[in-house]
Amino acid sequence: MSNNLLHHSNVNVTDSEPGFLLEVRARERPQNPLVSCLVPAFNEEGNIVPMLHTLHTLLSGLGLRHEIIVIDDGSRDSTVERVMSVLDSVPVTLIQLSRNFGKEVALSAGIDHANGDVAVMIDSDFQHPPELIPSFLAQWQRGYDMVFAVRSDRNDESLVKRVVTSLFYTLLNFGERNKIPENTQDFRVLDRCMLDALKSMPERNRFMKGLYNWVGFTRLGMTVRTDPRRHGTSSFNFYSLFRLAATGLTAFSNVPLRLWTVVGGGISLASIAYALYVVADTLLNGNDASGWPTIVAGMAFLGGVQLMSIGILGEYIGRIFTEVKQRPAYFVSRVSKSAKAFGPNDPAT
Ligand code: UDP
Ligand code: MG
Repeated sequence: MSNNLLHHSNVNVTDSEPGFLLEVRARERPQNPLVSCLVPAFNEEGNIVPMLHTLHTLLSGLGLRHEIIVIDDGSRDSTVERVMSVLDSVPVTLIQLSRNFGKEVALSAGIDHANGDVAVMIDSDFQHPPELIPSFLAQWQRGYDMVFAVRSDRNDESLVKRVVTSLFYTLLNFGERNKIPENTQDFRVLDRCMLDALKSMPERNRFMKGLYNWVGFTRLGMTVRTDPRRHGTSSFNFYSLFRLAATGLTAFSNVPLRLWTVVGGGISLASIAYALYVVADTLLNGNDASGWPTIVAGMAFLGGVQLMSIGILGEYIGRIFTEVKQRPAYFVSRVSKSAKAFGPNDPAT
């Protein structure tokens, strides 16, 4: 890879690894790496072709061998036709999933099909600035196995969304040694070692940010800006974000389960204290033991706590149910390959 990549940097570095580790990894980087761009697309007819041209021009300009893998996640617009129309001019492999499985699964399908020594994950809507890819790849060349984007701010999001996200990460990371960093994005560069590690993880409930973090290896966060979506609208609504948050929590934290031990203990202690108070009050002051409102309020409160804890247990059991069925995470309905695309057995030249 050309050395000028190392000098192209308009992003802030926020993390670091021991120098000797990086030196070893840097020496192991291939001379003429194959770069796989993984682009998930769901109803992206307005964005996908400009994105493919941008990526191809950028990587060709850097003199890098590359393949672009578009994972069509069951689009209902003309995304597939648009990608097919550029198969002759851009090294694209189009993986069509059999239906809409969601972004996390689409990314997993991309990882499964990547042939490269290194992969670039980028959204198709131009929210992740493609011109930053050279700086990311330069850090990979320096020895980092994963380089990921950290949002410079969340000003484009509502206050409610920001508060809920912050609560989610606090709960997710509570008492964890290996904390999942907040404000990260799916704009990433992953070395082959990370791709292989992620491929080997069979779980169906996939929270990718958690999985990237769990596998380890050397990593670097870079603060980048997030651009507005170029065409179309985001397919994430509050409900889909809530579902993703539930997947993340149940897959990476036992805190919601353990919480009830603490809550149960607290309520028991409070009830004992209250019982002692009632006895003392009767003996010392001669108050009779009326107080049905206390009983009703206490019962209603306990009923609520019990239902909530059963609901949380249900969330975990539901996930276990999905895992034991061992269904594949997705099905591919069709693969279309540009003549220029690389195959798994192509010589590395
Ligand atoms: N996406 C996908 N499957 C989905 C939803 C989204 O593959 O079910 C893709 C989408 O085409 C885009 C990326 O995931 O490339 C991010 O989606 P979006 O822009 O809707 O989400 P946001 O940026 O608002 O989080
Ligand atoms: Mg987007």
